[in-house]
Amino acid sequence: MYRLRCGVAGTLGVLLLAVLAVPAQAAAAAEFSPGSAGLGDPFFPLAGNGGYDVGHYSLVFSYDPATRLFDGTATVTATATQNLSRFDLDLRGFDIDRLTVNGAAAAFTRDGQELVITPSAGLPAGAVFTVVLGYSGIPSVVIDPDESIEGWVPTDDGAFVVGEPQGSPAWFPANDNPRDKATFDFTATVPVGITVMANGVLESQTTAGGRTTFVWRASSPMAPYLATATLGRFDLTQYTLPSGIPAYVAVDPTLPTGNVLRKLPDIVEFYSSIYGPYPFEAVGAVVDDAPDVGYSLETQTKPVFYRMPDEATLAHELSHQWYGDSVTLTEWPQMWLHEGFATWSEWIWSEHLGHKSAHQWFNTLYNTPAQNTAFWTPPPGDPGSPPYLFNGTIYYRGAMTLQALREKIGDGAFFQILRRWAVENRYGNVTTPQFVALAEQVSGRQLDHFFDVWLYQPDKPTSW
Ligand SMILES: [Zn+2]
Repeated sequence: MYRLRCGVAGTLGVLLLAVLAVPAQAAAAAEFSPGSAGLGDPFFPLAGNGGYDVGHYSLVFSYDPATRLFDGTATVTATATQNLSRFDLDLRGFDIDRLTVNGAAAAFTRDGQELVITPSAGLPAGAVFTVVLGYSGIPSVVIDPDESIEGWVPTDDGAFVVGEPQGSPAWFPANDNPRDKATFDFTATVPVGITVMANGVLESQTTAGGRTTFVWRASSPMAPYLATATLGRFDLTQYTLPSGIPAYVAVDPTLPTGNVLRKLPDIVEFYSSIYGPYPFEAVGAVVDDAPDVGYSLETQTKPVFYRMPDEATLAHELSHQWYGDSVTLTEWPQMWLHEGFATWSEWIWSEHLGHKSAHQWFNTLYNTPAQNTAFWTPPPGDPGSPPYLFNGTIYYRGAMTLQALREKIGDGAFFQILRRWAVENRYGNVTTPQFVALAEQVSGRQLDHFFDVWLYQPDKPTSW
């Protein structure tokens, strides 16, 4: 994400949830128990749900920008990871007209973003089950702890659809946690003239009766927050990269044209050369006019931009395909693993072009006086509270951490670390301690003090 907003003054306390004791149950039912309502993320404790793992989402829907009415059927295929008597999906708003589990009607209740589903029979651990949900209504806009907006955001001609960190349940029932990646397909029907840009490869586009149906398939594992179906009037260009990957570039025709999008193949090729092979089945960009959103996001295979991006922003979001989308954090407070890497990626692209080097970018920022605590605090490894999740320090000081590491251990070890981090954790979830361990292993250096100073101490680093 390229957000870089100032931290919001004041503290929105993390909602702490009391864990309800599971009541004693009759012996016959005691082997089955409810899945948890959340996965305990420190910032978003209700995001995601326990007791199952989603394998695939099939999202079929129609949307009319004029009425803003969304009418969908979601089919979620999952595997129970415990004997489940009950489980949750995350969904915000909508009327539900049909809900089945394995073809049988299931009881449900709503509690905030929790859709609590009780199937007609318990689901044994290891069993694959299918949830079909018919739902309709006007999708919601979600306001984040830092007061920015996400979810399904209406635009002049459609919607800008972004879900980091908690917007996806605004348009589909999800296990909305970065740890539960799944494949997706999207079948979206809109008035003719509107283009739907979802993740993955465009399988078909057919028009009948004044409406066009787009079918997109995302065949690589994807965290729910990276899903999109941004739609509106777009000029869509399709081509193939030299590596054979299909590219889809959609631009709102009301925007001023520019040359920046022509850089996309070179940027992808450059990052592939240093980070390892491009991880997904498609690439591209969706350039919309969404001034109310005010940030861009690395939606998987096709980042979305709220305006025509500059070259640094295009490079930033494309680098996230490796660091963020393919290699994904485990818990939201470790956001520097995404934003520090993507910001440093802007610098190395600049250096590659013979422009300002990463060392020079580092020096410029390092000249910021220690007294400017808003620049240095909170430290990137510990944002402290949700309003600081996208604070400038996560980006800038996170990127400086990587450049400082590069200069401490040398280019040979440093670039080997970056590549191994991307290749060995492809489609996985990672933690900061894992990165520290890899850096120590590859460099043969003891780096506890280095990472403590750069990632966790609130003051400006002075010796490392
Ligand atoms: Zn970013």
